[in-house]
Amino acid sequence: MHARVLQFVDDHAAEIVAELAELVRIPSVSGSDEENTVQHLLAARMAEIGMDVDAWQIPLDATLAEPDFPGVEVERRDAWGVVGRLPGREAGPSLLLNAHVDVVPTGDPTAWGGEQPFGGRVSTSTVHGRGACDMKAGLVAALWVARACAVLRVPLAGPLLLGTVIGEEDGGLGTYALLRRGWRADACIIPEPTSLDIAPGNCGALSFRILVPGRAAHASRRLAGVSSIEKFFPLFAAVRRLEAERNAVKHPLTTRWDLPLSIEIGTVSAGEWASSVPDLLTAGGRMGVALGEEPDAARRALEEAVAAACADDPWLREHPARVQWWGGQFAPGLTDSDAEILEVVRRAHAAVTRRPQATWATQYGSDLRLMHNIGGVPTVHYGPGDVGLAHGPAESVSIAEVLTANRALALAVLDHGGVST
Ligand SMILES: [Zn+2]
Repeated sequence: MHARVLQFVDDHAAEIVAELAELVRIPSVSGSDEENTVQHLLAARMAEIGMDVDAWQIPLDATLAEPDFPGVEVERRDAWGVVGRLPGREAGPSLLLNAHVDVVPTGDPTAWGGEQPFGGRVSTSTVHGRGACDMKAGLVAALWVARACAVLRVPLAGPLLLGTVIGEEDGGLGTYALLRRGWRADACIIPEPTSLDIAPGNCGALSFRILVPGRAAHASRRLAGVSSIEKFFPLFAAVRRLEAERNAVKHPLTTRWDLPLSIEIGTVSAGEWASSVPDLLTAGGRMGVALGEEPDAARRALEEAVAAACADDPWLREHPARVQWWGGQFAPGLTDSDAEILEVVRRAHAAVTRRPQATWATQYGSDLRLMHNIGGVPTVHYGPGDVGLAHGPAESVSIAEVLTANRALALAVLDHGGVST
């Protein structure tokens, strides 16, 4: 059966590439109507191959009101979830392939060097366009694994689930809704771009604001006031010091990153009049959370660093800066190193390519933490594409990597489903 499944992938290589290009041409930016266009298209294609399809409209108000809802950053009026299911021949272990259909905006189109961001151009070795790498390549590979299993009637012991989700890029609405709908599996593979490495964890990320008070006065008599901009400098230095401390010892799965737990201030605004001393500065930022760290502990670390810097300054001692937490609050997630799915994916990878495979955790948040922390599902990332190309201009993915991932994912499904050679 293994050889037949691999042959199926090889026989359909041109169609796999064509379908990837077709999906890239649908500009399914997070929050756009096209997110749902892709969902409806995929639901139809899963039904065509005989999967039982659960396509449901996500109840947005009720979902967003849940106490553990991870947050959204764009508005939606309509949102769909899709899970396709191929039954197993008995009540054996189920496996979920989970892929997001949304993509981030293109950024400055002139930075794409003449490439149409949603052109879906196919060259000899590469598919180009926003979402090609993150993660329509992995999505198409997962779809073709389901096709192979359906068409060849692969005798899996347990069900194969294919979950396609919206809203991954802005917080994880789709995967949260899938779990809220009651879908679970014994293991999950998310084919995000890992360059075919295996990533069983993701670091967390917390959005925050620091509000720095000053005292307004006419700028010509600035000594009568206190500049909130000037008072921000020691706080910024304190944030950088805290970042250095938090990265001094790295989790073994994040040693490949120079700065796994960055804390960056992304926005600063202050004052409302050029000839006034500014009486309020607001700095917005994002803080990384270590694997295994409680988000509350990370929040306390930042609050304490800001408080200590305030204690060193006569004005801020009396008028301390405040830290607020808002927007995306993403916990880290980490699958146990002895979870069987890791070995399943490693074996499958080694069976289709000689390429050495590293194991690491992502610096950014992903749906893995929802599957693992809320769903209790052992989950790994394994997929085609270089994440260094994701979200940037001229995004692309190697066709060879897409096909290798497709072959490996197919073998992982067979192995997990107890199908012998
Ligand atoms: Zn992604």
